[in-house]
Amino acid sequence: MQHRQLGPFQVSAIGLGCMNLSHAYGTPPSREQGERVLLAALDAGVTLFDTAALYGFGANEKLLGPVLKAHRQRFTLAHELGHAVMHPVPSSDMESQADRFAAALLMPARDVAPQLSGGITLPRLAALKPVWRVSMAALLMRAKTLGVLSESQSSYLWRQFSRFGYRTAEPQDVAVAAESPHVVADVLNVHLTELGYSLSELAASLHVYEPDLLLMHHLRSPSARPALRVVR
Ligand SMILES: [Zn+2]
Repeated sequence: MQHRQLGPFQVSAIGLGCMNLSHAYGTPPSREQGERVLLAALDAGVTLFDTAALYGFGANEKLLGPVLKAHRQRFTLAHELGHAVMHPVPSSDMESQADRFAAALLMPARDVAPQLSGGITLPRLAALKPVWRVSMAALLMRAKTLGVLSESQSSYLWRQFSRFGYRTAEPQDVAVAAESPHVVADVLNVHLTELGYSLSELAASLHVYEPDLLLMHHLRSPSARPALRVVR
């Protein structure tokens, strides 16, 4: 894919017009189909997406947002995991502790430090982002924490961030594909379809309500599952 400079951003020469995913050309596709189109475009190297509030009165932006904000997904989840393991009761500095936990989990010092030392620039952070699957801001903060960046270098780079509008939208946002958990759902599905467990038995043993169990793991409703299966 060829790239072009668009203001401060390097974008793919071919863009994806997203209006018809929510609006205008007949019946729009389902949300799942829309997400598949966006992910296929990401896979093909598209990093320029056209959307507007007018396309479906906000529906189009709501569709694109979660898919394209995937670069923040890992850090957000790791932050929440930090709370889960460290904070049975709230404390005043729990937010910064959870951030430090997430940073250490996703960017282990020994592995990331060599890649961050030797002169950090914005293009370098943008290149490292798809590798570590965290935002450029997270990489910059990690560099400061690990001491590979001086106070003045760090504040200079943060000023550059503001200057190019990276605090609201970073380059390479779309280079990190969204991930959805599937292992637990797969395990539950095997119990439902092959091991003879009923949904209510699974829900009871996991101490959750049946509708929540279906919703949380995107399980197929047991009534929709095929009654027969070919055994080879
Ligand atoms: Zn938090």
